[in-house]
Amino acid sequence: MIELIPELAELELAIFDLDGVVYRGSQLIPNVDSIIQTLKDNSIDVVFNSNNSTATRKAYVKRLTNMNIQCKREDFYTSASITASEITKLNQNAKIFVIGEIGLKEELKAKGHYIIKHKKEFKLVDYVIVGLDRDFHYKNLAIAQKCILEGNAIFYATNADSTLPSEDGLMPGAGVMVNAVQVCTGHPPKKIFGKPNPFGILSILEDRQLSAEKTCIFGDRLNTDIMAGNRAGIKTIAVMTGVTNKKEINELRKKSQNSDKIDKDLLPDLVLENLNDLFVR
Ligand SMILES: [Mg+2]
Repeated sequence: MIELIPELAELELAIFDLDGVVYRGSQLIPNVDSIIQTLKDNSIDVVFNSNNSTATRKAYVKRLTNMNIQCKREDFYTSASITASEITKLNQNAKIFVIGEIGLKEELKAKGHYIIKHKKEFKLVDYVIVGLDRDFHYKNLAIAQKCILEGNAIFYATNADSTLPSEDGLMPGAGVMVNAVQVCTGHPPKKIFGKPNPFGILSILEDRQLSAEKTCIFGDRLNTDIMAGNRAGIKTIAVMTGVTNKKEINELRKKSQNSDKIDKDLLPDLVLENLNDLFVR
């Protein structure tokens, strides 16, 4: 038996963000594969919750399996799969114009929705859904604008991350596309389904039938992972292998003691240098 640090002694469900926690770009963060296996060997359920909507859950399974992490499709809650589930609660077979990639389109299609491709169909569109699109194009922005301003489409977004970590450093995130649609329509998205919205975490708790007190999230970004975790009432653990560092967190903590303007949901319950620090040595 391994021994977890006392703060996590009761842990039954561990939610992992992907980028900056499990891997960076195509590189596994050292030892994360065996840490995840150790948690599973100790009857702790492990799931993955990412704001990246570009890949299907099937593609994520392949990616993590190749990194020596055992997983299945149902273990992934991406902003694309969460968006598809939430949209289905509103409308069982919607007509949708998507600014986004295959991950988002396939998750929506798998739920029975129809993806509109042509500008001339703008009047039919129920929802414009915007996620990260690395082939973002002016033409599609113009269609989205038309659907919202001249048709009846309601605007939703998968997430609003400002940046996307990659092997080459930071790249523009989905928030850039979301803002583009907002600027040219004058409408903000009616809802943003990904983190910091706790939708994903709450559906994980419901699916797994486990309580918030025995659940934690490991995340690298304060304004998404940690905020969503705090809003869902689970334990929040920031790891320093992605976009955040201890200096930033300490400064935020100091500021929050002197000002009500700092959202306390940004502050993690626990800070770990990396996931190796989960265990008592
Ligand atoms: Mg991350």
